[in-house]
Amino acid sequence: LASVPIAVAGGRHSHACMVTDSIVIDLASFDSVSVDRATGIVEVGGGARLCNLDAATASTGWAVPTGTNGDTGVGGLTLAGGWGWLARKHGLSADAVVEYRLAKADGSIVDVPRQSDLGWALAGGGGNFGIVLRFTFQAVRVPHNPLKGEVVYLAPTQASVAAILAAGDAVVHSPAFDDVGIAFALPCGAPVVPTMWVKYDDERELTSLDDAPALLPATQLGGWLRLANSWQAAEHHTTVQNMLAAVQSRSYIYEVALSITAMTPEVIDVLVGATRDWYPNKESTIVVAALGGAIARVPEDDAALCHRRASYWLIVEGKWSSPDDEAAATAARAWTKRLRAELRKTGELLETPHTAVDARATAAYTPDKLARLRELKATHDPTNMFRLNRNIEPARQ
Ligand SMILES: Cc1cc2nc3c(=O)[nH]c(=O)nc-3n(C[C@H](O)[C@H](O)[C@H](O)COP(=O)(O)OP(=O)(O)OC[C@H]3O[C@@H](n4cnc5c(N)ncnc54)[C@H](O)[C@@H]3O)c2cc1C
Repeated sequence: LASVPIAVAGGRHSHACMVTDSIVIDLASFDSVSVDRATGIVEVGGGARLCNLDAATASTGWAVPTGTNGDTGVGGLTLAGGWGWLARKHGLSADAVVEYRLAKADGSIVDVPRQSDLGWALAGGGGNFGIVLRFTFQAVRVPHNPLKGEVVYLAPTQASVAAILAAGDAVVHSPAFDDVGIAFALPCGAPVVPTMWVKYDDERELTSLDDAPALLPATQLGGWLRLANSWQAAEHHTTVQNMLAAVQSRSYIYEVALSITAMTPEVIDVLVGATRDWYPNKESTIVVAALGGAIARVPEDDAALCHRRASYWLIVEGKWSSPDDEAAATAARAWTKRLRAELRKTGELLETPHTAVDARATAAYTPDKLARLRELKATHDPTNMFRLNRNIEPARQ
């Protein structure tokens, strides 16, 4: 039994736990969440999902910055970084961790401060160093409902998509938007570009765009017409957190997450071509999430995770609707892979430790961080017991 490989399942949003001839340690029952209302310290079981966490912090005035789909595991998301609507204002999920309770390969259970060597590795190193039984977060104050903007641009031509992305990029990098959560959706073959904006204000509740006139440029992104332009106060935990869930509707999916350094004309050409010219079907989508803000203000060497100064995170979702439709599945996979290859040619592509199922984990790290991760792996998991993941091999085996 000792030689049977072990996989760890958190929220099961990645493919890492879909393995054969292995033992899957399913953390689903480790889903408890406790919130200290006075301090904002939040303890979360290693198998909890974002919806468990959000339900517990709702109505406390606190929130842990996490992702945009309630079904996702806190574990896999936080161990890879964790982007969501609060990230440009307060940083990544990994930045909010105070301590990890870790079950290690040698059978010991230890509390690992985030500010330690092993804590550095766990912030971006995935499940390589053991099983996180519990995350302790310092939540951030969310004293008022944020302003949620949904602006859908009509974009019937490739040129109009390109114009919206270029104008959107200028807005993303303007000071007034530094703390605003921003995502653009590029649904394949549809003549629209939906855009999403979330503004948190610590002083007061914003109920309309009139309360935040500095955000007006979000409604003027060089497209043709706006099919929707809705701005309203929305509850963070229930409404805002799941804003992308509709775009990420359940389906058969081959997904990769990539970062890009900048939205150059060459990158825009690739994104427009992929969603308007050589797309596999109308179910497939690219979500373009803005990084920057507080994410980029943390020093690069603070954690194993890389590319804090990247401009965007791309969630590329090649989808198909029937498990029997092998041709559609093949087309969706091929599209995702071609997109990565085309982006690589632009020189702006950065791999992430998220869901890049066909990329080696090592591609997500700079050489110096990878070397440090491999040394730490050799210390804490010398036999590579935790290897059914985006694996970091020990420095000496
Ligand atoms: C529809 C969709 C939406 C997404 N949205 C976002 C988003 O908004 N923001 C974002 O940052 N990411 C997002 N992601 C990416 C997501 O963060 C990663 O896929 C993440 O790995 C999922 O974690 P999980 O625990 O659900 O998955 P799992 O497949 O269960 O785990 C992923 C990896 O983490 C390891 N792992 C999980 N929990 C633990 C633990 N407690 N201890 C040790 N190892 C563990 C597993 O072994 C595996 O290697 C999304 C993915 C999808 C499919």
